[in-house]
Amino acid sequence: MDRGNLQRYKQLLLVKLDELSARPVDTAFRTPGAGGLVGDFADQATADAEAELHIQVHRSDAHLLRAIEDALARISHGRYGACEVCKLPISKPRLEAVPWTRHCRDCKERESA
Ligand SMILES: [Zn+2]
Repeated sequence: MDRGNLQRYKQLLLVKLDELSARPVDTAFRTPGAGGLVGDFADQATADAEAELHIQVHRSDAHLLRAIEDALARISHGRYGACEVCKLPISKPRLEAVPWTRHCRDCKERESA
């Protein structure tokens, strides 16, 4: 892969990394009390459900962060853009869409099939 493209994907990864680490942790459920309904049991239940949901989202964020860091490491080691399974180059549209991917689309589909 040529250097220009590599820089571009690196930029995409860094932007995403920034987005993930800058995201406020719990803005979504700090506000429900603003309407004066604090302490209402129904509200409490909703808040619990939201907290639960948020934990799941947060977990997948951690997974994504890790994948992005791995991809950046591959860039610095000159191993970026090749599928880990078949060793063929991953297509550019796929890297544009999912720059942290380790697998080409064929291998990914085979994996999840
Ligand atoms: Zn592959």
